[in-house]
Amino acid sequence: MKLHEYQAKEIFAKYGLPVTSGMLVKHLSEVDEALKKFPNGPWVVKAQIHAGGRGKAGGVKLAKNEMEVSQKATDILGMTLISPQTGPQGKVVKKIFITPAVDYTKELYVSVVLDRAHRCPVILASAEGGTEIEELAAHKPEAIQKVYIDPIQGLHPYQARQLHLSLGLPPDKINQGAKLFQGLVKIFMDLDLSLIEVNPLVVLKDGSIHCLDAKVSFDDNGLPRHKEYISWRDPDEEDPRELQAAEHGLSYISLDGNIGCLVNGAGLAMATADAIQHFGGSPANFLDVGGGATTKAVTEAFKIILSDNRVKAILVNIFGGIMKCDIIAQGIIDAAKQVSLSLPLVIRLEGTNVEKGKELLSKSELKYSFASSMDEAAKAIVVAAQGVKS
Ligand code: ADP
Ligand code: MG
Repeated sequence: MKLHEYQAKEIFAKYGLPVTSGMLVKHLSEVDEALKKFPNGPWVVKAQIHAGGRGKAGGVKLAKNEMEVSQKATDILGMTLISPQTGPQGKVVKKIFITPAVDYTKELYVSVVLDRAHRCPVILASAEGGTEIEELAAHKPEAIQKVYIDPIQGLHPYQARQLHLSLGLPPDKINQGAKLFQGLVKIFMDLDLSLIEVNPLVVLKDGSIHCLDAKVSFDDNGLPRHKEYISWRDPDEEDPRELQAAEHGLSYISLDGNIGCLVNGAGLAMATADAIQHFGGSPANFLDVGGGATTKAVTEAFKIILSDNRVKAILVNIFGGIMKCDIIAQGIIDAAKQVSLSLPLVIRLEGTNVEKGKELLSKSELKYSFASSMDEAAKAIVVAAQGVKS
């Protein structure tokens, strides 16, 4: 689960890290209240979306006077921001953060992520902040420092001080810097995060250090341990199909293609996507109905796939182990009754109760073609999708 910058900054403030507060604004009528709360300009008006690169895309604007704050708020609220992280369709801005502008002399980068190869959290930091870290990693990887963190003991004070100095931060602010790095690691550990990022971390005129941007992503598997944050999820920012799937215990991820996939098991779902790609097609989704899905869940899975109007053909690829083929077959028949299924459908069933499943399907009025292997299924669905006009 990702948080907005204004939410991440609330957590930072709770942990005593240096951030500038501001006010979240959802309607233009609230701008005056923000100006009353923060009467001293200049201000920065910042789009709140779950994607970085807002500045370059025009979603972060400086406002020198109160008129300009209203102007920038009008411009940004409701605009579609397109950044490398939003995808080509962009994201509509539904919230903005109005915050005092900060005068700074230097921009740095710092984040904490999990290093799976080293089996511990790692700090990534660079004296060259402000730019996309992906760009820096690709073109100048030596500019990124790594500090590995003992998962039991956390970041040692000497590691935090060393990092402060090696980033070229003012030596007289070493205690502040060390506290900040330790604080970021503490938040990462306390809240079971998958990412905490400050880009840019800035140096103010008096040499002190300040977090100008803040990004936090929770590890969804750890979220049940932090129930107070569950309501912080912003449904506006989530794929509605992914939310609907999660409610029914299904793992669904939207992809860019036009072939809907209904598969059991994450491994088989990935192999199915690969097979479709191999034969020249493109999957519209990853959908794992899991090992114990009921007829109802499978019906929901079908509804979710069909609610995506890019989908031109559907491939059902089931290996019945715990999940019995006849349950899937019944789910497909039930779903087809509930939604008008007119798209080409290729079904491959194998495993437990396969004969029962086939029998149910053949007795139904469903129009489908049956494939007896994964290759055959992938080839057939690619041809079927190509045959449907968009
Ligand atoms: P993003 O990473 O999505 O582009 P940032 O919050 O990093 O968004 O903002 C982009 C740029 O805008 C920053 O690198 C900084 O130059 C400027 N900026 C952001 N917030 C402020 C602020 N409060 N005061 C001054 N400049 C800011
Ligand atoms: Mg940033």
